[in-house]
Amino acid sequence: MTDVTAEIAIVGGGLAGLTAAVALARTGQSIVLLAPDRPADRRTTALLGESVAFIRSLGVFDAVATQSQPLRGIRVIDATGRLLRAPEVLFDAAELGLDAFGQNVPNEPLLAALEHEAARLGVVRLTATATAIEAGPDAIVIAGPEGTTVAARLCVGADGRKSSVRAAAGIGLREGRNTGQAAVVGTFEHALPHNDISTEFHTPNGPFTLVPLPGNRSALVWVTTTGEADYLRALPPAAIAEAVERQASSFLGAMTSIGPTQAFPLATATATRLVGERIALIGEAAHVLPPIAAQGFNLTLRDIAALARLVSGAPDAGAPDILAAYGREREADLGVRAIAVSLLNRSLLTAFLPAHAARNLGLAVLDAVPQLRRAVMRHGLGAT
Ligand SMILES: Cc1cc2nc3c(=O)[nH]c(=O)nc-3n(C[C@H](O)[C@H](O)[C@H](O)COP(=O)(O)OP(=O)(O)OC[C@H]3O[C@@H](n4cnc5c(N)ncnc54)[C@H](O)[C@@H]3O)c2cc1C
Repeated sequence: MTDVTAEIAIVGGGLAGLTAAVALARTGQSIVLLAPDRPADRRTTALLGESVAFIRSLGVFDAVATQSQPLRGIRVIDATGRLLRAPEVLFDAAELGLDAFGQNVPNEPLLAALEHEAARLGVVRLTATATAIEAGPDAIVIAGPEGTTVAARLCVGADGRKSSVRAAAGIGLREGRNTGQAAVVGTFEHALPHNDISTEFHTPNGPFTLVPLPGNRSALVWVTTTGEADYLRALPPAAIAEAVERQASSFLGAMTSIGPTQAFPLATATATRLVGERIALIGEAAHVLPPIAAQGFNLTLRDIAALARLVSGAPDAGAPDILAAYGREREADLGVRAIAVSLLNRSLLTAFLPAHAARNLGLAVLDAVPQLRRAVMRHGLGAT
């Protein structure tokens, strides 16, 4: 027996699922969201370009505005310690005539604001894990071990890297090389101002980035080996603050740790298709990228904007023509960005001189040629 019927069922209650719930509910479709209770998320998300306007259009930005900080500059520093050192490059939003590239928003209040807005828009939230998903010609039925059953015309898979929805649709995963990296995240207070500039040190183990937050505070994203990440996570607050200050060559002065850190194993993977029968994939169920050049959730927002545009006013949100259009549109954008991020990460990691030299040359050219620097900035902001 079916407990709940809705036009669209969303599986997953992370950033992707909750944002989709709000965006799709605003199209007038009835929405049910299935997800277990979410754990604490101590990350922040750099929302770039159109992403801030999109989150604002969903009516949730005001709730997080005072906890967010504009990103007016992005500085890339070669800290690889290799013989050939790349020059330091500063990407300045003013060079594009912009006030800022975007905003750095803490995930926890963003998730809470999305949950609040979804509830206000009448999204039905079921605390459940989808274990069985079966598509038929007219509807898709999703069931959980708790005995809950949901029938919908469209199932949106927002259930992360190990997506059950993707598996149920028989969609494969193209996995990138396992680089054995993890990202340690946390918030730090520092003695000197960040001047709204995100600073990225490229180390042999991955990028070490401090992203501005309000006041003299920054969010840490320290990509390193899983072994070093485990070591850093186990450090007491004073010791991790000291390690971060040392790694940052004290450019922000003395550091103090605010709250606990968390570690996230990194991966690169892309679903071989983004759609199946009555199924559309979004977020990490569709694409997993390392946190380099802040592309992950920004890509997800473009998935959601495309889906919302296509299902708006549709009598059947899971109809084959809607899904085919979604797949075509998103697969093209995704291909370009996944390749760019993965190449950047690999060129940072490799000790192979020509690749490394090519990257140095790339940064040197970026440093010297403003037109090229502007083109790269526009691409990073989502232009194709
Ligand atoms: C360290 C780090 C920093 C990042 N920084 C940035 C950034 O600055 N800018 C940017 O754009 N992106 C960034 N990203 C990427 C961004 O965080 C992700 O794209 C985003 O969190 C994707 O979330 P998601 O909702 O797709 O997946 P998840 O957050 O993994 O959520 C999946 C959800 O599905 C639920 N679920 C799983 N299985 C089931 C099931 N069977 N049934 C029901 N529910 C299920 C889970 O409980 C969870 O709620 C970063 C990522 C990392 C790791």
